[in-house]
Amino acid sequence: MTDPLLICAPMRIEARAIRRGLRSSASPAEVLRTGYGTTRATQAAKNMSHASFGPVAIMGVGAGLTDDLKPGDLVIGTNVGDVTCGSALLLAAELERAGLRVRTGRITTVDHLVRRPERAALAAQGYLLADMESAPLAAAAGGRPLTVIRAVSDTPDRPLAGIVSGGLAALRSLRAAAPVVQRWAAACGTRQVLLAGPRSFCAGVERAIEIVERTLERRGQPVYVRKQIVHNTRVVGDLESRGAVFVDELDQVPDGATVVFSAHGVSPMVREEAARRQLAVIDATCPLVSKVHAEARRFAADGYTVALIGHAGHEEVEGTLGEAPASTVLVQTPEDVAGLRPRDGERVAYLMQTTLSLDEAAQVSGALRERFPAVRAPGSDDICYATTNRQVAVRAVAAESDLVLVAGSANSSNSVRLVEACERTGTPAYLIDSATDIELGWLSGVSTVGLTAGASAPPAVVEEIISALAGLGPLSVSERVTTTESIRFGLPKEVRQ
Ligand code: SF4
Repeated sequence: MTDPLLICAPMRIEARAIRRGLRSSASPAEVLRTGYGTTRATQAAKNMSHASFGPVAIMGVGAGLTDDLKPGDLVIGTNVGDVTCGSALLLAAELERAGLRVRTGRITTVDHLVRRPERAALAAQGYLLADMESAPLAAAAGGRPLTVIRAVSDTPDRPLAGIVSGGLAALRSLRAAAPVVQRWAAACGTRQVLLAGPRSFCAGVERAIEIVERTLERRGQPVYVRKQIVHNTRVVGDLESRGAVFVDELDQVPDGATVVFSAHGVSPMVREEAARRQLAVIDATCPLVSKVHAEARRFAADGYTVALIGHAGHEEVEGTLGEAPASTVLVQTPEDVAGLRPRDGERVAYLMQTTLSLDEAAQVSGALRERFPAVRAPGSDDICYATTNRQVAVRAVAAESDLVLVAGSANSSNSVRLVEACERTGTPAYLIDSATDIELGWLSGVSTVGLTAGASAPPAVVEEIISALAGLGPLSVSERVTTTESIRFGLPKEVRQ
């Protein structure tokens, strides 16, 4: 965006507070005093049609409409008049990271001071804040990136009595918000999004979620789930809201209750405890994890020392180690291979966690082959099709992108590996649980954003990220598909039709 940020501030006192907060080192900004009240704002909006400017920020004080707002709180408009502010959530999150109290919601513009009964009526219509200028100014933005930031000066319980102290708090907030608005403006611009294909849910995750959903339907709530069903906060939160209860261990599950084992699998000890407690178990372990468990049992039964390539502490690794604990050793690095002391160097096998980095796993398996030339490999790749496909796809996208956003939770091994795969290509990448995790500073000067999602991240998060980026300027979206997936796994008998 070549044209500078235009900040519209109705009153002199507001304009002064904002100017004091602006940083000369950040993106250039012009503060325009547009005048108090709807008539002056409408005239200022007409004058704007002759001016040249870039992103528009409308900033000032306003009347809080709901009881939970406090003087000094910032309200970021999602809808102002007929205009939608597409980047409201991104900016609100950035302001929160700057330490400000922020709400997002609808702002209404009226032509008079609102009294208490009218505040209640407007709040009942879904508005958070009322002002006397924003709507005509927002319309004058003419489709440019737009934000409306109003600092609460008065509230329903202190409409006029507290206006002086509330006004001061509001001006302080406007001043503090000004440099953040400059960051927002620097992040605005025309850009393209390259979607990696495939991305998001794999067959094992879809199956695990469906198992919990069907169990809730059939058995009612609560349904206990040992560990997160898949490693994603959105999925877990959604299922929690529908009656799933996530527990760390079985001792948190009442006797006789229904418990679902997560997609990452469990060790035989956990199964034994569930049987002893007479819990009704429904197993959502991904069949590709179960395959690795079976390989561990088979190699151990044949007298092999099993080197399990994986990450310590990961639930899947703990489950696989538990299948043959006396015969299985975790190896995380080539250095770990050097320290291996197998019973018989001719009878060594290796297995892998399903969600490893292809490159790192190849290094460790290479070290095993070098040290134990007779080492046995798994019958088919343990790193699953979904992990492999997503890493190949994101590398293709990273090669064309200035940065890559990976939707996924921090405890998702699959998602973290996607970030690492990008970084190995030299493209910066960030793991984000939701669009609000995007820091505006990442986007400054970035014209091509790669976008993918880990196997446990819902497609809806990708859609949210795209719509948040679209609020920062014209956005084109295209997809780079490296392969297509059609794998589906059957459901366990307990939840089949
Ligand atoms: S990432 Fe792979 S192993 Fe894990 S649930 Fe998905 S398909 Fe199964």
